[in-house]
Parts: sequence; structure tokens; C-alpha cells
Amino acid sequence: MVDQTQALDFKLRLRERAAQLRDELQRTRAKSVDETPGNVAERARDSEDDSFATLIVDTNLSEIERDVDELRMIDSALQRINAGTYGNCVDCGQSIPFARLRAEPTAERCVQCQELYEKTHVSARTPSL
Ligand SMILES: [Zn+2]
Repeated sequence: MVDQTQALDFKLRLRERAAQLRDELQRTRAKSVDETPGNVAERARDSEDDSFATLIVDTNLSEIERDVDELRMIDSALQRINAGTYGNCVDCGQSIPFARLRAEPTAERCVQCQELYEKTHVSARTPSL
């Protein structure tokens, strides 16, 4: 189980990470403004490759998406700390091993439930044809 001191420690780490991510997001957004398809296409004209512009914008988008995803995870971890349920698996309620939390403070499931979750949810994100 996670005691109060440990919870506080995680809280600080999570907040630090969240600040870092927000910073990153801001920079990525600033970069995206610089590299609007028009600008990039302008610069990439010599390479006669229009898809280059799209590629850069797509990369920024997936970067943003990943950061936003992580921020969401951090937010929910902080909520669990405040609610006193941090360190318990959200699916089966068992405590998540401390080593796992240290490695991944946003972990909300024990290893078994996470594996099951990934098996049942990750494939659902793949568009079915
Ligand atoms: Zn579990």
C-alpha cells in the first residue's frame, strides 16, 4: 500500500511531469504555428515534395496527442491520490506493486489487469475495415 509520504512524493513527481508536458505542448504548438503547411511547403519547394509539409504537421499532431494523453493520465492519478485510492488497481481493487508505481506513477491497473485491458482495448482503437 502507498502511505501518505509516498503519495505526497508521487504527487510532486506527477505535478513536475505535468508541468514539463505542458511546457512541451506549448513548444510543439509554437512550432506548429511556424510550420504551417504553407510555410513548410515554401521551404520544401526545392525537394519538390508536398507531402513533406503534411508529414511534419502530422508528427506534431501525434506528439501533441501523446502529451495530452499523458497529461490526462497524470490528472487522473492526482485525482486518485486526493481520493485516497491511489495505488489500487481500478479494475480489481488490489494494490499495485510499489515498484510498478515507481516505474510508472500513472499506472492505474495491476499488471494482470493492464495486460487484459491492452488486449481488449488497444485493438479497439485500430480502425476496422
Ligand atoms: Zn487489477
